[in-house]
Amino acid sequence: MKEDNKHSGQGGSLNFLEQIIEKDLAMATTGGRVHTRFPPEPNGYLHIGHAKSICLNFGLAAKYNGKCNLRFDDTNPTKENVGYVNAIREDIRWLGFDWEEREYYASDYFGELFDMAVVLIRQGDAYVCDMSGEEIAAGRGTPSVPGKISPWRERPVEENLELFERMRKGEFPDGSRVVRAKIDMASPNMHLRDPVMYRIMHAHHHRTANKWCIYPMYDWAHGQSDYLENITHSICTLEFEVHRPLYNWFLDKLGISQNRPRQFEFARLNLNYTVMSKRKLLELVEGRYVKGWDDPRMPTISGLRRRGYTPASIRVFSDKVGVAKRENVIDMALLEYCIREDLNRNAPRVMTVINPVKLVIENYPEGQVEELQALRNPEKPEEGYRKVPFSKTLYIEQGDFMEDPPKKFFRLSPGSEVRLKYAYLIRCESVVKDQQGNITEIRCTYDPGTKSGMAPTRKVKGTLHWVSAAHALEAEIRLYDRLFEVPDPENVAQGGNFKDNINPASLQIVRGLAEPGLRDAMPGERFQFERTGYFCVDPDSSPGSLVFNRTSSLRDSWAKMKDSQG
Ligand code: ATP
Ligand code: MG
Repeated sequence: MKEDNKHSGQGGSLNFLEQIIEKDLAMATTGGRVHTRFPPEPNGYLHIGHAKSICLNFGLAAKYNGKCNLRFDDTNPTKENVGYVNAIREDIRWLGFDWEEREYYASDYFGELFDMAVVLIRQGDAYVCDMSGEEIAAGRGTPSVPGKISPWRERPVEENLELFERMRKGEFPDGSRVVRAKIDMASPNMHLRDPVMYRIMHAHHHRTANKWCIYPMYDWAHGQSDYLENITHSICTLEFEVHRPLYNWFLDKLGISQNRPRQFEFARLNLNYTVMSKRKLLELVEGRYVKGWDDPRMPTISGLRRRGYTPASIRVFSDKVGVAKRENVIDMALLEYCIREDLNRNAPRVMTVINPVKLVIENYPEGQVEELQALRNPEKPEEGYRKVPFSKTLYIEQGDFMEDPPKKFFRLSPGSEVRLKYAYLIRCESVVKDQQGNITEIRCTYDPGTKSGMAPTRKVKGTLHWVSAAHALEAEIRLYDRLFEVPDPENVAQGGNFKDNINPASLQIVRGLAEPGLRDAMPGERFQFERTGYFCVDPDSSPGSLVFNRTSSLRDSWAKMKDSQG
């Protein structure tokens, strides 16, 4: 984990949550404890926004010697399932966080929540309302117009208790009754206008099966679950700021003063060039705009993993984003920067030609093969060298040759000289074309006195990567680009839809040629294809049939590449 993730009383500036926690610790407000939780609803896969919340909650716990629970907020059985539960667990673990034995479920507390609701009903703070969902919604009013008072609001306590019990037993159909908190139908805060606490839903739950047919609403379940888990700091995103009075109202009415959790809000992570709501991500999956939740173009954690992102790069990104109190949009380029930094440091280098054209060295002996030494990673010289075979017939990138180049073209063209990385200087002598005029072969000569590593004789401006034709491995290369072509895909003209902004060129599949050392590359392994970008072996890959995903391009375009004494 990051250096500056350690306990830092003074020095580096604290974010506002750290300030609150340090004050709480100094004043012993929470009995010296820090206990957070990450509360996903298992109704979809986690995305980069959740990663921010995970890093924040687990990170604060780690920094202050506290604990962080994983709590599945599973109060909506029709949208949730165990497949999502498992994917969420895998993603959090992969990110590098450990909830130890503290894996909890809001459904674990259905019994306690029921009993607490009984307490509120007894006190006259909640009632059974026979209005339908539509009637309640229609009668809510507006912030300046009070809502309609339910005709059931003054129902006697005994009748409420009896009806609530019968709701639990399953005597009533879905939607026929709800339990509501009795607060204030004229409150300017709409969340205090007798919010629903329970609804009837005869639905099978992935954990409690058919035990329950009434399910608590988020606002009712959440704060009480925090209390039951001894949470000290319940951190959520800004849209819940207006729910906080309700969060506190429930705790007040239950008389909870000891070990009372408090809610704090921060600005959710928004990223440009993507969408993050689970509903929209589900739409992309179900509409087959992408291949699945883990499609490398998705902003999901599983998509980023498949794309080649490292857990460390996501944690660093989360750190750089920081903790804000106001809405903001982070540039996707920051996320891309974080993975490039990581892979530049850590990914071994290999040569792979993506759009090959044949190159023959006329004066190189037929049948000769040299094993050239190539650095595995210039950032980590201690990792030593790999061997790359060199021979008379090679492939280079089509884009590295121009028959009729503009002035500042420093790559190969007729009569010009370039270096083949780790090998020799070559000069282009002629080209061979097919009947349509396409170049099928570039004919060159090499200078045996210019082998890489020898004392340099003369300088050239371009260095090209290459593979030996007889040794190269064929590979499927999936070139990914951003999934949306505009910074704000959700901002669409009337009648439009975020899907109208999908980038039609977000995936391009080509067949490339890779250096032979990649034969046994395993799914998940990451490489820098020299001069081309960062790539990761896809799970679809096998030794006989390699598949790579482009994680990101290199920062510099090829044209800017300078001669690095290869
Ligand atoms: P979505 O809007 O994608 O459906 P959600 O908030 O409904 O997300 P949950 O599973 O309830 O999804 O979220 C779990 C936790 O992750 C919550 O505490 C939520 O505040 C946090 N979270 C969700 N999205 C973001 C985000 N973009 N940035 C930071 N935290 C987020
Ligand atoms: Mg939610």
